[in-house]
Amino acid sequence: MQRIENYIDGKLVAPISEQYLDNVEPATGKVYSLIPDSNAADVELAVAAAKKAFPAWSTCGNMERSKVLLRISALIEQNLDAFALAESIDNGKPVKLAATVDIPRAVDNFHFFATAIEHFASESHFMEKTAVNYTLRRPIGVVGCISPWNLPLYLFSWKIAPALAAGNCVIAKPSEITPMTAYLLSKICIEAGLPAGVLNIVHGLGGSAGQAIVEHKEIKAISFTGGTATGKKLAATAAPMFKKLSLELGGKNANIIFDDCDLDNALKTTLHSSFANQGQICLCGSRIFVQKGIYEKFKTAFVEKVKSLKIGDPSTEVNIGAVVSKAHQEKVLGYIQLAKEEGGTVLCGGDIFHPTDERCKDGYFIYPTVIENLAHDCRTNQEEIFGPVVSITPFDTADEALMMANSTEYGLACSIWTNDLNKAHRCAEQMETGIVWVNCWLLRDLRTPFGGVKSSGVGREGGWEALRFFTEAKNVCIKY
Ligand code: NDP
Repeated sequence: MQRIENYIDGKLVAPISEQYLDNVEPATGKVYSLIPDSNAADVELAVAAAKKAFPAWSTCGNMERSKVLLRISALIEQNLDAFALAESIDNGKPVKLAATVDIPRAVDNFHFFATAIEHFASESHFMEKTAVNYTLRRPIGVVGCISPWNLPLYLFSWKIAPALAAGNCVIAKPSEITPMTAYLLSKICIEAGLPAGVLNIVHGLGGSAGQAIVEHKEIKAISFTGGTATGKKLAATAAPMFKKLSLELGGKNANIIFDDCDLDNALKTTLHSSFANQGQICLCGSRIFVQKGIYEKFKTAFVEKVKSLKIGDPSTEVNIGAVVSKAHQEKVLGYIQLAKEEGGTVLCGGDIFHPTDERCKDGYFIYPTVIENLAHDCRTNQEEIFGPVVSITPFDTADEALMMANSTEYGLACSIWTNDLNKAHRCAEQMETGIVWVNCWLLRDLRTPFGGVKSSGVGREGGWEALRFFTEAKNVCIKY
């Protein structure tokens, strides 16, 4: 059986404990590889390697760092098919999604930050007839990057690329549930000539390897994407140590669909925003609010489209693959049960999908599910489900839609559908989210700030925001 290895000090190494965890393929329910069960001792080695690498990496110049990162980007692109297949096997997502979204985005992340660093400039502030201030932005040192299982390489590279571009050395941990593409990335880094110790990938459980990264006193900043409960725990450990923290957490995103929208476009995109990656994208819209004038028409057409989605073996041409694990399947099914208890009517789906083919008969599948008749403030409509489950609710006025949309503790993203420009601007301004899409979803420009408000996180990623996070600002004031 294939063994994944840690990537420490430029080498692929076994965990010190020599203990491994099972890595399960969600589509089959079978163990197909082994993951290092790393702990604080492995993190210690990684930190020592990173500290040794930091002086040279942080001073070799932006152009030098850029060249290495561009080589990494190009090598991932050259191996796109292998990466996409690995991501699909590891996560359960359709291989086509991995080949068109996840892996191209990882290629772009390295490319974007490799070039961004060449244009990164710091501010200067002139004081009339007195002095000039300039801001020095220097890399922080050794930083930690911790990422979740839903978009494994996509989110892993979204953190690592700016951290490295800015001149830091990194200790990174992918989710133990989806470690494979991070392992493939470590091989690419060796091939690309990334100096030893600049990036160290430590695999293992959140509670041991992850916690050891957060607790390590030499790791000065933590960039984390994951659940809100984990984020809270992380902050409790890191805040008293005064670490810089960027937290991208959970969401319960709303789609607000007005009578005057382009209905075909709203339908097509809402299908995608509800069920892409089996609904396991932090940006997926899990609550659909539709204005009363088009509610019945939208609902009927939407449910019909949902029923036509093809579910099954993610290595084949399907729209919906497997959810990431047995535990997650049970969690999502538990929420469907809760929705029924809360008075919801299941319009379609609502159960396990059993593939007929032998290969996937023990995989973790769920029918895409649409639920109606739920109060906006019930648990199903307030808590993050993170699966192929959406609720649909009618509304009268924009104020009512905004009240319901803003009623959760989360505030990551939303989509507004209208052809009335004034209404779009007014709603965008009043939504309590870090991201608002109007007449679209998941349209991303990597220069824009990315992140959530309320329990969806603290800080922003993307563009200059990420490069600012991964640098320390120092003001130099020169009087003349
Ligand atoms: P988790 O919070 O369970 O895990 C995220 C990462 O943190 C994993 O690598 C995990 O390791 C690690 N971890 C767990 N406990 C600790 C700890 N005590 N110290 C350090 N690290 C720890 O999230 P999921 O992987 O389940 O991801 C799904 C969540 O991520 C959803 O809530 C989703 O909304 C959110 N998310 C947010 C995004 C955003 O941009 N705002 C984007 C994508 C997802 P291990 O897997 O080994 O437990």
